[in-house]
Amino acid sequence: MLKDDIKKQVETSCATYAGNGQCHLDRPCPFFNAETTDNLPRCLYFENAVLPADDKLKSRYWQSFGVAYWGEFAKVCKRCENTFNPGNQKRRQYCDECKELQRKEKRNKRMREYRKNTG
Ligand SMILES: [Zn+2]
Repeated sequence: MLKDDIKKQVETSCATYAGNGQCHLDRPCPFFNAETTDNLPRCLYFENAVLPADDKLKSRYWQSFGVAYWGEFAKVCKRCENTFNPGNQKRRQYCDECKELQRKEKRNKRMREYRKNTG
């Protein structure tokens, strides 16, 4: 889950995280105290100082708000969740690697069906 990954990131990388769901900025850490809602909490410090270190997490985070990756035209691959640059193909859903895999799978499937049909 995205929220769990964010918590992990906070625990290991956030400079203001004080442990036990607490924050040095005089309040509880929002990511550790939002269990009752489905919506992801916002934390400006996290967004500015912690999140940018992890590209993958960053795009997942922003996409959860329906915000296209901020400032860049990157997308998150539907298959491996890595970010990639779709270039002119704005509707692409897979990164280069996965696109290749998808293509191979499709070809294999076609081959299988072809063999089946021809006996
Ligand atoms: Zn991929």
